[in-house]
Amino acid sequence: MRPLIAGNWKMHGLRADGLALARAVAAGAGDVAAELLVCPPFTLLAAIAEALSGGPVAVGAQDCHAAPKGAHTGDVSAPMVRDAGARFVILGHSERRADHGESDGLVRAKAEAAIGAGLVPIVCVGESEAQRLAGQAELVVTAQVDGSLPDGFAAAGGVVAYEPVWAIGTGRTPTEAEIAAIHAAIRSGLRTRFGAAGEGMRILYGGSVKPGNAAGILALPHVDGALVGGASLVAEDFLAIARAG
Ligand code: PEP
Repeated sequence: MRPLIAGNWKMHGLRADGLALARAVAAGAGDVAAELLVCPPFTLLAAIAEALSGGPVAVGAQDCHAAPKGAHTGDVSAPMVRDAGARFVILGHSERRADHGESDGLVRAKAEAAIGAGLVPIVCVGESEAQRLAGQAELVVTAQVDGSLPDGFAAAGGVVAYEPVWAIGTGRTPTEAEIAAIHAAIRSGLRTRFGAAGEGMRILYGGSVKPGNAAGILALPHVDGALVGGASLVAEDFLAIARAG
């Protein structure tokens, strides 16, 4: 399966530097076999989608509301995200689960809304450090996958991103064996839930992916790409990760 390398810019990027970063990624994408995606903040979605239009780099949002429109001050709906030119949307990132109290049920409703608007959802799951130390990582992650994915997820080309919370932005990662074990468990859950379609669904790894560790991680079974935070803010690093896949 063609890997997907997705950059989560989080709350970084003003207009000039965001556009420059997006253009630098597109300019270096010529020798990249993987599919590339950048996910800027809402404020830059339309400008970056326009700048990258027709090129090799897709654009995604970092969240959307579960309702298509309404009295939800400050929120942005899935049809709005699609209208701005995004094709993907990251949902249930651990920072949103922590900062905004997002539950599996809410993430599932958002994923349904995203699919309804023609977006490809990337649903994030991952255990805390305490859960890993207690030996519960696999249990926690497979339960999150079960609770966060709507029934139409496979048919919509939905993507799962395994991101251990303690590995995000810390420079720490699980061992390759630990990553492989969780990805195998997620795959098994997807097969059970979605049948043959579960085999073809992408499962990304995220959490301190850098140019130096990307090749080893991306070579693991059932690792179909990466969700990259910090390193996606430097075009050369992001492209180096993509070339390692
Ligand atoms: C993320 O937040 O999705 C992420 C993986 O961050 P980082 O690569 O910085 O750990």
